[in-house]
Amino acid sequence: MSVRVRFAPSPTGEIHIGSVRTILYNFLFAKQNGGTLVLRIEDTDQERYEPRALPSIYDGLRWLGISWDEGPREGGPHGPYVQSERLPLYRAAQQQRKEITRYDRLCRAIDPKEATERASRESHVIRLKVPDQGTIALDDLVHGRVEWPLASIEDQVLMKSDGFPTYQLAVIVDDHLMGITHVLRGEEWLPSTPKHLLVYRAFGWEVPPHGHFPSVLGPDGKKLSKRHGSTRLGEFREQGFLPEALVNYLALVGWAPGTEDEVFSMDDLVERWRTDQVQKAGGKWDYERLRWFNGVWIRKLSLDALLARLLPFLPAEWDQALVRSVLPLIQERLHTLADAKPQIAFLFEDV
Ligand code: GLU
Repeated sequence: MSVRVRFAPSPTGEIHIGSVRTILYNFLFAKQNGGTLVLRIEDTDQERYEPRALPSIYDGLRWLGISWDEGPREGGPHGPYVQSERLPLYRAAQQQRKEITRYDRLCRAIDPKEATERASRESHVIRLKVPDQGTIALDDLVHGRVEWPLASIEDQVLMKSDGFPTYQLAVIVDDHLMGITHVLRGEEWLPSTPKHLLVYRAFGWEVPPHGHFPSVLGPDGKKLSKRHGSTRLGEFREQGFLPEALVNYLALVGWAPGTEDEVFSMDDLVERWRTDQVQKAGGKWDYERLRWFNGVWIRKLSLDALLARLLPFLPAEWDQALVRSVLPLIQERLHTLADAKPQIAFLFEDV
């Protein structure tokens, strides 16, 4: 069976570097297995839809050298790849009821016949009926065996009253219909997994192997956020980081190659990266270390390549031949592409 993995961003904002790490790992897994990578847009939360999100995903990932095989623009045999265009597919699900903190199970015992009849005229949601007793378990590719008592799981809403499925339902239906063979995603989804396992069970579907990657953390051990500094992929690009350096560093946040090696190209990563070397504990994002990697990758560039990368960071009227002539002097000292301008400005401006 050939490997099919997916990344399934919710278009709620510009793409976060932590999501990029998850996507990168999926990409590496697909490549090293000769598999297929699917992009699926999970837009079931229509209130949080942000139109800038999709272009940022497309441009940013292309810039990094991450490509995929099936998706909204690419098409493919399992389309459409946008959940809001797949609504009829989710209506096949059944179960009843409503939300937050924890549902009081008011409607849990309504006779199915009465429920069906009332559903035709009353606004309603459909919930997952979670058994009261027992446990449910997953053998996670990263975390090993994880077990949950069923009593701790709420009767999750699967279908909202606006006719949209929740993530919890749509993700299972789509992973199944799209033939996904490995669910590899961020560990923030681990608490949702027992619900997913129950949905698989309710449909009588096989559960594919799952791996939950540790979160990307800030220096203080909390999830990397704006408080720590840049988090959007686009910001790193604007600040003069090379895609090679970002990919290299990002791969190492949460993955231990098991040797002293640390400088890896995308091709090296495809060869070396392993799900069983992904760490359980969150990886800390270190802006200084990223700058160090960026310097390493800048020094690998030929002068012509460096010049080409620098141009967007320099005034258009600066003479390119003159810039190129001083590059050997500054290449060693650059940490970002944006560092060049102040270092050579004296050649072009009266100081
Ligand atoms: N839509 C979810 C997200 O934005 C994807 C979760 C998953 O991969 O199952 O992260």
